[in-house]
Amino acid sequence: MSYTVNVIEEKCVGCSICSRICPTGTLKINKETKKAYNSGVYCDNAWGCLYACPTKALEIVEVR
Ligand code: SF4
Repeated sequence: MSYTVNVIEEKCVGCSICSRICPTGTLKINKETKKAYNSGVYCDNAWGCLYACPTKALEIVEVR
């Protein structure tokens, strides 16, 4: 089983902290919506983003 991170858009304020600390480039910021999104790149499950996000807008989800 493998896991990645999902962005809860309603909670994201687009601060970009998650995208800056993500070691694999999984999390990016959409320039139009100013929200983080999962780019589909392999997530190595470091989970630094979960702890760093100030609004708790990230959650762990299973990859299907
Ligand atoms: S750290 Fe949280 S609030 Fe900031 S861009 Fe990432 S998901 Fe959005």
